[in-house]
Amino acid sequence: MREFGYQRVFDVPGAVALLGTDPEARFLGGGTNLVDLMKAGVERPALLVDVTELPLGRIEATADGGLRIGATVTNSDLAADPQVRRHYPALAQAVLAGASGQLRNMATIGGNLLQRTRCGYFADLTKPCNKRVPGSGCPAIEGEHHNHAILGASEHCVAVHPSDMGVALTAFDAVVSYETADGPGELPLAEFYLPVGDTPHLETALPSGALITGITLPPNPVAAVSRYRKVRERASYAFAIGSIAAALDVRDGLVREVRLAFGAVASRPWRAREAERLLTGGPASAEAFAAAADAELAAAETLPHNAYKVTLMRNLVVAVLTELTEEATR
Ligand SMILES: Cc1cc2nc3c(=O)[nH]c(=O)nc-3n(C[C@H](O)[C@H](O)[C@H](O)COP(=O)(O)OP(=O)(O)OC[C@H]3O[C@@H](n4cnc5c(N)ncnc54)[C@H](O)[C@@H]3O)c2cc1C
Ligand code: SF4
Repeated sequence: MREFGYQRVFDVPGAVALLGTDPEARFLGGGTNLVDLMKAGVERPALLVDVTELPLGRIEATADGGLRIGATVTNSDLAADPQVRRHYPALAQAVLAGASGQLRNMATIGGNLLQRTRCGYFADLTKPCNKRVPGSGCPAIEGEHHNHAILGASEHCVAVHPSDMGVALTAFDAVVSYETADGPGELPLAEFYLPVGDTPHLETALPSGALITGITLPPNPVAAVSRYRKVRERASYAFAIGSIAAALDVRDGLVREVRLAFGAVASRPWRAREAERLLTGGPASAEAFAAAADAELAAAETLPHNAYKVTLMRNLVVAVLTELTEEATR
């Protein structure tokens, strides 16, 4: 057992300052990912700065009709919030599709965004892994990769991001707020996760030592008719092998507005902008949904054991958009 310090913090400037005192310090949310990685020896922090008592535990409506979600709101509280359920139902569904009740009671919004990949090699210290040890190699490409990326990966890493919540947040243009010793900042979720390239160990654009303070969802009327669908290898308590967050506004058989994001296909939640572009203004038909999915997935690069994800994602797009069309025209 490696010894480490633990300190609880009660104000944001104090949290940022304390983290800055030790390059080996880490913020601790619910600990549901970080502590597991510490047990595996992947993370070896000298100090844990517990952020769960910070005054960041509220969900509030913003003046323009959006929502502000504090970073220490638990996954359970987010999924149960009446404003989230009414205005962004896919977000509540995505959170409820993740982990188990006990884990959701502990896990926080900030920690969920920063959870690490579930690639088996990443947590296995006996194996090389470019994400854990830059330059050591990527055994997944020749090895076990049935749940790895088909979009936006590189020869250096093909891992996927495991968050369900992040997929719905990506569809709805969420913005991440953070605090550093130099002051506050914001990052649209679309820019939050870095492209893999040859630096898979660098995962986000957050400045070093930044504390996530919250997430803002802009007002988004189309999000009120939205759905999250997750495919996994068993009915509960499993990460996605493919998922989709979708929102649709259909009038007179035409798509007025659509939001689409994919999960478990890339190193980050994948906004399907090409599919959105093709669908907008066109017919709300199964043929159009399939053609849009095909266009989005044309960039897919598959490995021998994950090519099934292309068909899976295409079918998810058609099924979920068809259901939303029926719901909108009921
Ligand atoms: C068995 C199991 C199954 C799971 N299944 C799913 C699933 O199906 N879908 C899914 O989406 N998730 C799933 N999860 C993941 C779970 O949702 C995450 O572990 C959780 O959301 C992380 O939140 P946390 O608060 O516990 O983070 P922690 O473990 O405390 O922290 C994770 C990382 O975030 C950093 N951090 C935490 N808070 C902040 C902050 N405010 N600012 C800056 N950095 C911060 C920490 O330093 C650490 O690097 C599962 C987890 C387990 C253990
Ligand atoms: S896919 Fe990424 S995380 Fe997995 S072994 Fe390769 S480099 Fe490591």
